[in-house]
Amino acid sequence: MFGLMQDHPLLISTIVCHAARHHGGNEIVSRSLDGSLHRQDYVTLERRARRLVRVLQALGVEPGDRVATLAWNGFRHVELYYAISGMGAVCHTVNPRLSNDDIAYIMADARDVLLFADLTFAAAIAAAAPNCGGSVRAVVFLCDRAEMPETKLPPGMALLCYEDLMAAADEDFAWPQFDERTAASLCYTSGTTGRPKGVLYSHRSTLLHAYALNSANVMGLRSHDRVMPVVPMFHVNAWGLAYGALMAGASLVMPGRHLDGASVAGLMNAERVTFSAGVPTVWLGLLHHLRASGERLHTIRRLAIGGSACPPALIDAFDREYGLTLEHAWGMTESSPLGTYNTPFTVEGESDAAALARKARQGQAIFGLDIRIVDDNGVPQPHDGIASGNLQMRGQWVAAAYYGNPPGSALDAEGWFTTGDVATIDADSSMEITDRSKDVIKSGGEWISSIALENIAVSHPDVAEAAVIAATHPKWDERPLLLVVPKAGRTLEPADVLRVYDGKVAKWWLPDAVVVVEELPHTATGKLSKLTLRQKYRGYLVDQTQM
Ligand code: ADP
Repeated sequence: MFGLMQDHPLLISTIVCHAARHHGGNEIVSRSLDGSLHRQDYVTLERRARRLVRVLQALGVEPGDRVATLAWNGFRHVELYYAISGMGAVCHTVNPRLSNDDIAYIMADARDVLLFADLTFAAAIAAAAPNCGGSVRAVVFLCDRAEMPETKLPPGMALLCYEDLMAAADEDFAWPQFDERTAASLCYTSGTTGRPKGVLYSHRSTLLHAYALNSANVMGLRSHDRVMPVVPMFHVNAWGLAYGALMAGASLVMPGRHLDGASVAGLMNAERVTFSAGVPTVWLGLLHHLRASGERLHTIRRLAIGGSACPPALIDAFDREYGLTLEHAWGMTESSPLGTYNTPFTVEGESDAAALARKARQGQAIFGLDIRIVDDNGVPQPHDGIASGNLQMRGQWVAAAYYGNPPGSALDAEGWFTTGDVATIDADSSMEITDRSKDVIKSGGEWISSIALENIAVSHPDVAEAAVIAATHPKWDERPLLLVVPKAGRTLEPADVLRVYDGKVAKWWLPDAVVVVEELPHTATGKLSKLTLRQKYRGYLVDQTQM
């Protein structure tokens, strides 16, 4: 017997309609490329999204077509999110931090029909355009006529101006109803091993993920919140915030390309931001700025952090010095991206050290998604905080296959997706990532966590950034090698750096050598590029012994 309740498809257009209808006076504030602020309320946003659909239709976009964006966080990018998906087409967010070659590759792979781009990326577009497969009919710059650049494009690719097109269009469009499993957006992984792979989100997965984002155990946004996504809309839909905020009716404060500590702090205070989300590098930049300038943050109390492991020292510093809670999240492109969340709570009688260790874990699975750890033979491992294994997940917003591949092809026989992360899960179901499986250090058959060693290294007062990789060792196969970047104006002595490990790890975990470097390489999603480091330093310990 079926239930007798109404059955409406879960569609992205319903989010913007809800925001306009019930929180229409709330707004999206955007920092433009020149630093000025632009404001637009949700009634206007929904109207302009409809107008944009008319533009897309005039440019020949059909449901199912892929429309690319190459843009910072701003109101026009939000309009594109809602218009493209809302009409039944697919919003393909392109990450500008990918190489021009990878940008051309993914646009050709997706067979994008149009590209909407911020002016910042004019040069990258000119470089990538000739190789992006010939399906792109036009590049539309997100600006008005006066700002249009003179970008040279290959024959057959028109150069258009967003605000000109918008001015010429009407708003005579009603959001259509269709199957909630229809593709809504496409995001490629950064391809640290091989070419990027496309993850194709559906309307259903996007809405369920946004509901989950708004649950109290997760980000729990409310209509009076003012939310600043520092995480970019060009990678994994800004962690779902452009959907989650509007679903809650919360206002959005968009930082554009200005992501340094001073700009972020200034905008947070000026726009009374109450919640924000970003990667550790961004929050580290904010902390350095606050310490150096003496500026305080007046309205924000919670910052979500993820994308890479959050060093406990960062959680501690924000808490003690600024009264701010860092909420640690884990996820990936393939999980839309929210997978686990470390919900803040206090435990009576818990020591400071134990509380910090608890907060630094990646947290519990969010309802709608399940996780487990398995050994190399796929056998589930206990949740005892000791056994570590390959982390797997399955759920409503987890990829089942990569773009262009057969349904289910990314899953094992039981429907689990193997994340490529290695983790422990404790008795309270709180998960901790110890490594990417390709980054683990296997010393004499035992695993050493590179993340744990990096977290300790950055607690040294003069270390700005640290990376630990597996270096080949004649006796132990692999041993940890620590690379450190000193803070500006400081110098580092290897022996002094190693003292920071005293009493914190077993002796056999100690890095065999410390290399002081000026900078470390990063991937397009801002993570340490350990592949590059391994290529360069893998033989370091062997070379040293031969010297
Ligand atoms: P890419 O496109 O580079 O694969 P993703 O954004 O999909 O980038 O990155 C996902 C990976 O990032 C995860 O599999 C994990 O290794 C890492 N990651 C994400 N969040 C965390 C976290 N909180 N702690 C440790 N690692 C994390």
